[in-house]
Amino acid sequence: MSLDALKFDDQGLVAVIAQDAETGELRMMAYANEEAIRRTLESGWAHFYSRSRKQLWKKGETSGNTLAVRSVWVDCDGDTLIYTVDPTGPSCHTGADTCFFRRLDSDGNWVDADGQVAGPTLLRLERTLQTRKASNAGQSYTKALLDAGPTKIDAKLREEAAELGQALIDESDERVAAEAGDLTYHMLVGLVLREISLRDVLTELSRRFGRSGHDERNSR
Ligand SMILES: [Zn+2]
Repeated sequence: MSLDALKFDDQGLVAVIAQDAETGELRMMAYANEEAIRRTLESGWAHFYSRSRKQLWKKGETSGNTLAVRSVWVDCDGDTLIYTVDPTGPSCHTGADTCFFRRLDSDGNWVDADGQVAGPTLLRLERTLQTRKASNAGQSYTKALLDAGPTKIDAKLREEAAELGQALIDESDERVAAEAGDLTYHMLVGLVLREISLRDVLTELSRRFGRSGHDERNSR
């Protein structure tokens, strides 16, 4: 195994970002030396190097909160890696799913993310819907749909699907995008109602990606 092309710093380390392979959520950032990367590639489990303890560690070795690594990406100048991962349990030592659970406000103060997430739109939307579900403060369209239950959501999904279908036939690109957005939103509300995560859906999609369409159809 040749890791010579990587640009290790003067302590022999590169930065590593762990990103959820399905949702795109950033879970943590740490450092790795050559041995940690080697072990990661060989075992499929995220290994890092602790600068404070000055030792190699396998993520989750004591906590059980592991990161199974699907792939390792290297940036343009070879000093930063991404491990794309399937996390088990929270990834932060504080018990948070991700280390990035606070943001800076415009004055630079640390503020709690309060259910929000530094991630792609679908993930942020899912978290927002989950927060609405849990909240009793004020009515929202989402909360009303969730309270109305699956029959109401079923009716909205059919309505929005029909509108998207019609837009595809003879409406503008903007209308198609807007209707696809409506359908996606209502689909997510249905998933939140049933407590099925976006990650479960994405995992199912990515399971299918690996196969040809022909194999996929035969296996259904
Ligand atoms: Zn952390």
